[in-house]
Amino acid sequence: MKRGVLIVLSGPSGVGKGTVRKALFEEPDIDFTYSISMTTRKPRDGEVHGEDYFFVSRDEFEANIKANNMLEYAEYVGNYYGTPKSFIDETLASGHDVFLEIDVQGALQVKEKMPEGAYIFLTPPDLKALKERLQGRGTDAPEVIERRVAAASSEIRMMANYDYAVVNDEVETAVDRIKNIVQVERLRVNHILPEYIAMIEEFEK
Ligand code: 5GP
Repeated sequence: MKRGVLIVLSGPSGVGKGTVRKALFEEPDIDFTYSISMTTRKPRDGEVHGEDYFFVSRDEFEANIKANNMLEYAEYVGNYYGTPKSFIDETLASGHDVFLEIDVQGALQVKEKMPEGAYIFLTPPDLKALKERLQGRGTDAPEVIERRVAAASSEIRMMANYDYAVVNDEVETAVDRIKNIVQVERLRVNHILPEYIAMIEEFEK
């Protein structure tokens, strides 16, 4: 059985990862599985446990860290966010592609453990656009926005650790670019070879 492809979408806070991911999963021909993260943050209106996140207590999250159940985790604005490991292993082994949307710290931890994945860095067209988007959300005070823009400038340098950069100028275009990347990843020799080796071994029996 051919293993699935691991697709990791990451990028600075405020770049629009969540929006792009939602638009991607609304496409009719998407057949990858979304990895649902675990978090200690409280659900927002309309968010569903087991769909948007697994919402857990700090104690429960820390017990999962101790039990080595997390592929990666990070603390972001006072809350834990992390990726449960067994779900990813099982889904990839069953031949399905897995899609992760996580922050930069988390993505780099995953890359250490699973370098064979496709690491996509979603980037704003420029910092001015990012600042305008954060202001447009209307959820942060001006000084918080300044801090986030400053954090984003250093996070953008982390692009060097990724395989692909997707500019989020328009959501639909970004979605198309990600779909193209996944098509290419499925054609990589590393992805296809094990199946052929197994076929040759079977043939030579
Ligand atoms: P939010 O609270 O807005 O849903 O997410 C806050 C940040 O946490 C976003 O940048 C989001 O991409 C990131 N995030 C969501 N799930 C995970 C995860 O499993 N691991 C890590 N490291 N970051 C995550």
